[in-house]
Amino acid sequence: MLDALRFDNRFTRELPGDPEAANFRRQVLGACYSRVLPTPVAAPKLVAYSPEVAALLDLTPAACDTPLFTEVFSGNRVLRSMDPFAMCYGGHQFGNWAGQLGDGRAIELGEVLNQRDQRWALQLKGAGPTPYSRTADGLAVLRSSVREFLCSEAMHHLGVPTTRALSLVTTGEEVVRDMFYNGNPRPEPGAIVCRVAPSFIRFGNFEILAARGDVELLRRFVDYTITTAFPELGAPNQATYLAWFEEVCRRTAIMIVHWMRVGFVHGVMNTDNMSILGLTIDYGPYGWLENYDPDWTPNTTDAQGRRYRYGAQPEIALWNLVQLANAIYPLIGEVPPLQAALTIYSATFEAEWRKMMAGKLGLIEFNGEADANLVAELLAVLQLTETDMPIFFRALADPAIHASAGDQALTAAVAGAYYRPETVTPEITTQTIAWLRRYLARLAQDGREDLERQLAMNRVNPKYVLRNYLAQLAIDKCEQGENSLVLELLDVLRRPYDEQPARTQYAQKRPDWARQRAGCSMLSCSS
Ligand code: AMP
Ligand code: MG
Repeated sequence: MLDALRFDNRFTRELPGDPEAANFRRQVLGACYSRVLPTPVAAPKLVAYSPEVAALLDLTPAACDTPLFTEVFSGNRVLRSMDPFAMCYGGHQFGNWAGQLGDGRAIELGEVLNQRDQRWALQLKGAGPTPYSRTADGLAVLRSSVREFLCSEAMHHLGVPTTRALSLVTTGEEVVRDMFYNGNPRPEPGAIVCRVAPSFIRFGNFEILAARGDVELLRRFVDYTITTAFPELGAPNQATYLAWFEEVCRRTAIMIVHWMRVGFVHGVMNTDNMSILGLTIDYGPYGWLENYDPDWTPNTTDAQGRRYRYGAQPEIALWNLVQLANAIYPLIGEVPPLQAALTIYSATFEAEWRKMMAGKLGLIEFNGEADANLVAELLAVLQLTETDMPIFFRALADPAIHASAGDQALTAAVAGAYYRPETVTPEITTQTIAWLRRYLARLAQDGREDLERQLAMNRVNPKYVLRNYLAQLAIDKCEQGENSLVLELLDVLRRPYDEQPARTQYAQKRPDWARQRAGCSMLSCSS
């Protein structure tokens, strides 16, 4: 039960905190966090919780169904063993140094040790202002909270490294937001998500200390991070610092390859939104590729430069790692080893990306230039007409895609992925068939059993992802006080690679009404 949660609040115990106890906006120097309490809310109501995350904390469904659970995860009740605080961090936003940011609307409650001695930090998002709230209110609205809750869990079940979400509650209070910053503020229902992760440390935690020239605290913070989150690297010293940075490069590369595999676009890859553990963090104006388009970004706040578009994510992650390298430079004192470490990012990305693409195509191994061409041609074919990425890759594992199939059968097997069949010219059909024939010839080289290959492909090409319009439908219902679609999607997305024949309505292409609807194709940072 909740009262039995075992807290061990190492972050606040081992790192220096802000001596100021009052909750007002300020610059916080010489400290890694400020203690702050959640703001009580009027009428909290539990919308949903994740049974898997509850289990990580040894909480039974019965414990989650209690009024105490809702009280605690709305911030109305702080358990005695919690030690709530907001972290101090900075960040590069859209390529520019933004100074101190910090947990402006996140409050970490403490760290739970479960019965297997795993450590999980709990964090409320939207529980009121903190010293880092700057000009904002510290709150979150229901639409963005539904999106964070569902996507965290969906990503986990897809096998993508991510922070998790325990609970989603509405506060019974209204929060005013101008969704597209165009002079149309409106009240929306307030909500709070409880996020769960081994740690919420970001690149920006290090950057702020370096920017302020606080090398002593920077060293202490890096030492803390290594000993607590990367203990396998050994005692912190010059060599460990580099090994640690290399590991961050490796993990970041792996995370980005997963994003590319499932068609996830983060939307705001600022350095304050980059987890030091290589977890996907801060689900804001993210989106899922529907038709394959490397230039797509869901974030209207980024519409001009499209800095964070799908296809740019690998290079942006590297850019962010360069900022982290700059931040820890004072501890290393030499540029070449940091540069060498950064090449680990590119090498890991390249190797993992090839493995990933081979997996998506059902190849035993990625064979150099030849397969690089095969993939490049495929990605070009996918852009000839609007083609749904998840549906197309799933179709490649269809038994109808077979060397003995006629041209018509091949065309029919992928036709379900087209958004505008009327735009598919004979030329596009010819090019698609030509590619499929090359692909089949390549499969023949492997000589792998069809069924085995198809099963393997269906384990890496998801049938169900949190399509943008599905999240919006769940939000629409939720705003009417109806949580059924949130629960249904949470459940469907638990098994994203399974066929789930009774639920194929959740694997459908974006309907036409969603093409230009707010929340479906357009999102902003306002949340
Ligand atoms: P984001 O781009 O959402 O990651 O946010 C950047 C910074 O703004 C972080 O420091 C957030 O904590 C802060 N922030 C975003 N929304 C709010 C809000 N409603 N109230 C206070 N701080 C916020
Ligand atoms: Mg953020």
